[in-house]
Amino acid sequence: MHELSLVSELVTRCSDLADGRTVTEVRVRCPLGIDADELVEGFALITSQLGQRGAGTLGGARLELEQVAPYLKCLCGFSGRLSAEDVAGHISVCPQCGQVGELPSRLELVSVAFAPKT
Ligand SMILES: [Zn+2]
Repeated sequence: MHELSLVSELVTRCSDLADGRTVTEVRVRCPLGIDADELVEGFALITSQLGQRGAGTLGGARLELEQVAPYLKCLCGFSGRLSAEDVAGHISVCPQCGQVGELPSRLELVSVAFAPKT
C-alpha cells in the first residue's frame, strides 16, 4: 500500500526532527489522489507501534492533513494546478492536451509541533 510507505517516511522524518522531544501535531499538505483516510489510519498505526516499543516520541501525535491540488507541468506547455476532475486515483490528465500521467504523490511537511518541556 503506497500510502503506508508515505506515512512511514513521514514518521521517520518527524522523529529525526523531534530529536527526543514529544511530538503533539504533524501538519502536511497532501495532493489530491492520495487517500487521506489511509494516511491518518497508517499514521496512527505506525506511531502507536513505535510507542509500544518505547521509541515513541510520536505516540500521541495527531496528523493534520491539508489537501491541495497537485501541480502539473506537461510537455505540451501546460503548467498549473489540477482540479479534482483532472485526477483519478494516482493518475493525472492534462486539462490542455489530455496526456495521462502519474501524479507526483509526495507529502509536503508543513510543521511539526512539540510538547513544551516539563
Ligand atoms: Zn498537456
